[in-house]
Amino acid sequence: MLDADFFRRWMTVAAASIDREADRLTALDSAIGDADHGSNLQRGFRAVAAAVDKDAPDTPGGVLTLAGRQLISTVGGASGPLYGTLLRRTGKALGDATEVDLEQLAEGLRAGVDGLMTLGGAAPGDKTMLDALVPAVEALGNGFAAARAAAEEGAVATVPLQARKGRASYLGERSIGHQDPGATSSALLIAALEEAAGTAEG
Ligand code: ADP
Ligand code: MG
Repeated sequence: MLDADFFRRWMTVAAASIDREADRLTALDSAIGDADHGSNLQRGFRAVAAAVDKDAPDTPGGVLTLAGRQLISTVGGASGPLYGTLLRRTGKALGDATEVDLEQLAEGLRAGVDGLMTLGGAAPGDKTMLDALVPAVEALGNGFAAARAAAEEGAVATVPLQARKGRASYLGERSIGHQDPGATSSALLIAALEEAAGTAEG
């Protein structure tokens, strides 16, 4: 079972991973965007890590709701409200349970992804974070390692796509041939689940 401690570890590990990869995320965003994705998420996830450490909510839903709120209030770019909505909606779906299992987490994340899709109006194949998140959530029933692999594959699979949402879509066909920064950060977020679990098992 996954308790509030696990979800706090997830957010802390994600923040550390985004810190390490911030330059790479910004470089990807400089190719098809405005070169701020790394710094946007670094600012946001540092605030998330600090908040979940300080307030230490005692339910999984409480941790994710707080994390989502932090992202929305600290990140100026499109990715802040999008990731913030993902985490907040997921947190809301998990409710007041003190522990959740993998299937409940997958179901919660599906609700979160639905919220992200409603807010951003994008679908899989539009070259966005959804191209990593949707396959990851589908694979999550098979464990964290399977979800990580699916997210990484999904991120790489954005390279040949033409962007249809967000800033990269302004480039039209010139967005083809570059990996989407948001799909890349989504793969980091999903990989952090496995690291937080400490094993490859669900
Ligand atoms: P901004 O585009 O405002 O500079 P970021 O650079 O932080 O924001 O984030 C860009 C990423 O956000 C993109 O790579 C893409 O994955 C994601 N994104 C942008 N618009 C949407 C959308 N409508 N739906 C889903 N994801 C989106
Ligand atoms: Mg940007």
